[in-house]
Amino acid sequence: MKPTLVLVGRPNVGKSTLFNRLTRSRDAIVADIPGLTRDRHYGHGRLGLKPYLVVDTGGFEPVVKSGILHAMARQTLQAVDEADVVLFIVDGRQGLASQDKIIADQLRKTGRKIILVVNKAEGMPYSTAAVEFHELGLGTPCVVSALHGEHLGELIDFALEDYPYAEDIEAEPGQEKHPVIAIAGRPNVGKSTLINTLLGEERMIAFDQPGTTRDSIYIDFEYGQRRYTLIDTAGLRRSGKVWETVEKFSVVKTLQSIEAANVVVLVLDAQSGISEQDAHIAGFILETGRALVIAINKWDGMDDYQRDTTKREFERKLAFLNFANLHYISALYGNGVKALMPSVDAAYTAAMAHIPTPKLTRVMLAAVAKQQPPRGGVSRPKLRYAHQGGENPPLIIVHGSMLDHVPQTYRRYLENTFRDVFELKGTPLRVEFRTGH
Ligand code: GDP
Ligand code: GDP
Repeated sequence: MKPTLVLVGRPNVGKSTLFNRLTRSRDAIVADIPGLTRDRHYGHGRLGLKPYLVVDTGGFEPVVKSGILHAMARQTLQAVDEADVVLFIVDGRQGLASQDKIIADQLRKTGRKIILVVNKAEGMPYSTAAVEFHELGLGTPCVVSALHGEHLGELIDFALEDYPYAEDIEAEPGQEKHPVIAIAGRPNVGKSTLINTLLGEERMIAFDQPGTTRDSIYIDFEYGQRRYTLIDTAGLRRSGKVWETVEKFSVVKTLQSIEAANVVVLVLDAQSGISEQDAHIAGFILETGRALVIAINKWDGMDDYQRDTTKREFERKLAFLNFANLHYISALYGNGVKALMPSVDAAYTAAMAHIPTPKLTRVMLAAVAKQQPPRGGVSRPKLRYAHQGGENPPLIIVHGSMLDHVPQTYRRYLENTFRDVFELKGTPLRVEFRTGH
């Protein structure tokens, strides 16, 4: 799994600025989704050759202004506990603050790898910026400027020195030839209830993998004649016939399970609506490019009027995920749960589809014949052929000339055409343009 960097520090030291820098390369993918680019807290990044996940704890909980116990709130502490590397950010311009000392004390107790990051240090000599922070006892500080992008490469090199390069990371479970499912969602939406309903189905046989350790997070099962692997996000333990989640909701484990899955079932709560945290998780799934099935849970105990308004609200707010199948279910009573697995299968099949170049090219040329891309300046972009450059999500690469001038709307037109013709329901689809040969 990719190492997880967790950003910690008091308000205004530059956590979200640094977060944006560290995840910048991926921003384009979610850029056109309103409301998601601002205030993101989870993201992917890659600086140099090493990929990582980043969590900004800044937006986790309402900021508690004072008090030793509140310096780091519970969710933040949990993320720190699960981090591979903690980046503790302080403000080089303001200097050492008393709250920094309190946070440092708490961090030291966790035994994690902590890197002290002195931010806002553009134009400051290293020694001037670093000197007063030595007393925090967290080793040699890294001095950076998140705003100006200074020394961030060195920071990441240092943070990830113990982690392998991308090509050395062993094959991820996404390579397996059956759906690997993550059930994701914020606390209390009904994830463990759903898992129990699914695994409790009589046609479903969950089996223990021989030789697995207590920490194993993969649960293999069969449903119908098909095989699946469920990624446990929350410490599932079997006691008798019931599966219980032993641990509390964990941001880091949620991200890692999404990353390791090839299909995500995003669970939402019909009775409490869509929250900011739901949007963050959805944004992360989208960024990862995983296939997606949406389960709107707790559909019981609502009258027709409530269902009607709820449906309209969810469909409007989830419009940016309209490639995914939506299910209205009651995990508690089992309603609608049976229909989920066929959607998982369909999403998996779509995500793993292999479309031959001649077929793709034919469909693309037909789409172009029907509607030409608009002129960009003096000449019209010319689309010549298309080939598939990746799976999960399918990546379609269009070759031709003057393709820099193809507008977003036309890209979307092609995307929709490919999606319709090749029945790619349930997976994001990426279309890239390459000028030249
Ligand atoms: P957060 O509350 O820790 O997430 O902090 P923000 O990222 O929102 O940054 C707080 C303020 O500090 C913003 O006005 C940023 O533009 C500014 N800031 C962040 N990084 C730097 C930096 O490297 N240099 C300077 N001069 N300002 C910075
Ligand atoms: P998790 O934190 O996402 O794993 O959520 P849980 O499965 O622990 O469920 C949280 C609460 O919601 C529990 O009290 C469940 O009984 C309840 N719950 C779960 N699914 C449903 C449902 O379909 N309908 C209703 N009414 N309650 C549900």
